[in-house]
Amino acid sequence: MRTIIDGGTIVNEGRKFTGTVIIDDDRISDIIEGNSNPRAHCERFVDATGCFVLPGVIDEHVHFREPGLTRKADMESETRAAAAGGVTSFFDMPNTVPQTTTVEALSDKIRLAADRSHINYGFFFGATKDNTGDFSKIDRTRVPGFKLFMGASTGNMLVDRRDALECIFKTCADLDLPLMTHCEDTAMINKNMAEAKRQYGDDPDIALHPIIRSAEACYTSSSLAVKLARRFGTRLHIAHVTTARELSFFEPSRPGKPLPQITGEATVTHLWFSEEDYKTKGALIKCNPSVKRKEDRAALREALDDGRIVAVGTDHAPHEMKDKIGGCAKAASGMPSIQFSLISMLTLVDEGVLSIVRLVELMAHHPAQLFSVSERGFLRKGYKADIAIVQRTDPWKVSENLIESKCGWSPLMGQQYRWKVRQTFCNGHSVYDNGHVDEDYFGEALRFRLNEE
Ligand SMILES: [Zn+2]
Repeated sequence: MRTIIDGGTIVNEGRKFTGTVIIDDDRISDIIEGNSNPRAHCERFVDATGCFVLPGVIDEHVHFREPGLTRKADMESETRAAAAGGVTSFFDMPNTVPQTTTVEALSDKIRLAADRSHINYGFFFGATKDNTGDFSKIDRTRVPGFKLFMGASTGNMLVDRRDALECIFKTCADLDLPLMTHCEDTAMINKNMAEAKRQYGDDPDIALHPIIRSAEACYTSSSLAVKLARRFGTRLHIAHVTTARELSFFEPSRPGKPLPQITGEATVTHLWFSEEDYKTKGALIKCNPSVKRKEDRAALREALDDGRIVAVGTDHAPHEMKDKIGGCAKAASGMPSIQFSLISMLTLVDEGVLSIVRLVELMAHHPAQLFSVSERGFLRKGYKADIAIVQRTDPWKVSENLIESKCGWSPLMGQQYRWKVRQTFCNGHSVYDNGHVDEDYFGEALRFRLNEE
């Protein structure tokens, strides 16, 4: 089947131009610059005049909660939200039940996604203090890389013993596979929490969250990760960087050049909210690492533009509303965000924070490059046709009835936007079109490093 997307502004690989994308079945068969009017020869014609035509978003950091935690979310519900948000691929994190820390658990998850996920899927393998021996048994074409919780509060996946850490960094380097880390120093957090409880009681007010999960705890843990990555030559990607100070670890990435060995991700949440929002949003914006000062947010935004932050993910991590009640000790950490991530970033484009060309690098090109995703992340002839068509609109507000995530709430409730995702193509299939998700469509397993020698 031939689809033609005509007349939109294509944003891809550092350029922005009016043109036509031609899709044959699941692949892009041509991209024609200028006005072509090729209408005659296709089964489906999409008039994208006045729209931006972007590579579909690759969200490199989500928690879809399946298997095991499906009361919060599942692959079916969250990929509906993703498709509605212009996201065509995701990498899910290993802290599900069971954890994705064995070869079997990984295979099970991939199998599960095949008739659950409406978009393309990939799964990180979780590093623990005793499974490095299994790293080499993993098919490297099936995983983006390894995820390590370095001093995060995630059960037995917390690895903070020095010898275990060294072994993980070395093994990833030997295999030349990327290591994505959650960096927060647990000892510091525990000490801060004990002090806060002593002063304010069992469940300290949410405003104290960034004091307990402090900037210092982030920096201490990140600097250890960077030190180990330098020592062993590991390709390190630090997840959800939240502080101005940690940005000193990163070299600016330059268009057309390979990405640096040590890189950082920012999340839409940390780019959007600051600690002032605890007043109105309370524990809804509680996440780990914490949302920090306005100055930190400003520094993160600057780093998007100058290339010290190379990728933007969501850390989409839904909880039931009942779990989001309480303060620093009781409320669960994490929030849904994938459905509105692209339009939130487009809003930052309107505010002059970054260009739309840069947005596409951060949300599609770079996640594909960092993790060696095959045939996706760019609008290129021969590549899979993963495409988001977005459009400026009259102002509208996020309301409960629009939310696709299973948890049914969003920290962005009531937020006004002037952008909408009009249509999302996944493997050439129109998986989302003007408010409607095609629930009968399922995405493909992502492949990695297929073109390596
Ligand atoms: Zn996460």
